[in-house]
Amino acid sequence: MKVQLPKGTFDILPVADESWRTSDLWQHVEEVIRKTTAEYGYREIRTPIYESAELFDRGVGETTDIVMKEMFTFEDRSGRKISLRPEGTAAVARAFVENNLQQLGPTHKFFYIGPMFRYERPQSGRYRQHHQFGVEAYGVSTPEQDAEVIDLLLQVYKRLGLKNLKVHVNTVGDLESRKLYREALMEYLKPHFGELSDDSKTRFEKNPLRILDSKNPKDKEIVREAPSILNHLTPDAKAHFQALCHLLDQIQIHYEIDDRIVRGLDYYNKTVFEVLTEDIGAQNTIGAGGRYDGLIGQFEGPDLPAVGFATGLERVLQTMMAQKVPYPKSSRPLIYFIPLGEESREKCFQLASLCRHTHIPSDIELYAKKVPAAIQNALRSEAKFVCILGSEELQSGKAKLKNLATREEKEIHFDHLIPYLRENHLISTTNSSEHR
Ligand code: ATP
Ligand code: MG
Repeated sequence: MKVQLPKGTFDILPVADESWRTSDLWQHVEEVIRKTTAEYGYREIRTPIYESAELFDRGVGETTDIVMKEMFTFEDRSGRKISLRPEGTAAVARAFVENNLQQLGPTHKFFYIGPMFRYERPQSGRYRQHHQFGVEAYGVSTPEQDAEVIDLLLQVYKRLGLKNLKVHVNTVGDLESRKLYREALMEYLKPHFGELSDDSKTRFEKNPLRILDSKNPKDKEIVREAPSILNHLTPDAKAHFQALCHLLDQIQIHYEIDDRIVRGLDYYNKTVFEVLTEDIGAQNTIGAGGRYDGLIGQFEGPDLPAVGFATGLERVLQTMMAQKVPYPKSSRPLIYFIPLGEESREKCFQLASLCRHTHIPSDIELYAKKVPAAIQNALRSEAKFVCILGSEELQSGKAKLKNLATREEKEIHFDHLIPYLRENHLISTTNSSEHR
């Protein structure tokens, strides 16, 4: 029986090719994320990959694409309605409230990395299981917090080596601004109602702002001439947005103001932003986020302001590949032991274990019976040295190390082998400029 991957999913493999599905690349990206978030004071939070369906129905919003058509929702064996998580923000808010984390202090900064699930038409940059890195900062309502999360996202992209990114920022105002804007927008859309897509017709009464986010070409054309939210802001919402733009200017972040961004989720207020690339085709938004001051209160938690973002790792990795960004490999064996015969097999096994116990990456040939086949395996493992060990070496007490790249050979007494390798390992990890 041959079973294949479900549609819209993919494997991440330890295969060193130029693909974004190479596990070395994923490890590198996750490492950069972990290091950068720590430097900005964010701590990791992990939530389950499935939750009660109502969390997303209420938390993400009934008129969003995600809830209307993209959720993997099913009943478990006891008839509970379950959804695979389509995004991280609602789940983090749920976990925060459920674990009473507000007791730990007035402000909180979280990050997460993990798979998300959306029942979308599979295509380049759009998968049914994809991965997001996101952050959520709770407790601060001033624009420095918005600027900090934007800066963090761009810093991660920069450290990953991404180039030519565009940052679009906008504000969707506060409730009062949106009420004013909603009226203006409905007034504008009314004469075009008949031409709108069916989804947008549904949204017209329930949540007309959502129409700005439509991917339907005709809808897009209609909203091009729609009034701008920027002309309907309350003084408070306007001041917040101006202060954010000023802060971004001060830290040399280049952005464009794009008054068409509303984002695909219902919980946003004030700041919204997107980061785009021109290098991966149609699915060009790599990261997006905004402020969502009411969400935690909506889950019966404290009424804390909040701002965050999520970035799709597939699109980030695809951009890295398209831009030919170099990245480091994960560690490969420093030494590959090849035993000749039973006795030396025991010695090799001891030496390999000793290496590993002292943090020296090493491997041992346990399969091939012939030296050329064993050397092939050593080359494939990308080891630096190979050590072929037979009765001669056992008698002399000396190992022969061969550098696979330079073909140089060196004889070392067994007792000196580990210190020699450790020194070599230190040198190679400190100059880990082995990029590709
Ligand atoms: P899009 O406009 O592309 O549908 P979205 O508005 O649904 O994106 P968000 O819900 O904000 O996106 O998700 C955050 C990020 O996750 C996106 O910017 C994108 O990089 C990534 N993403 C979203 N859906 C998918 C998917 N189906 N496959 C791969 N990445 C995705
Ligand atoms: Mg989407």
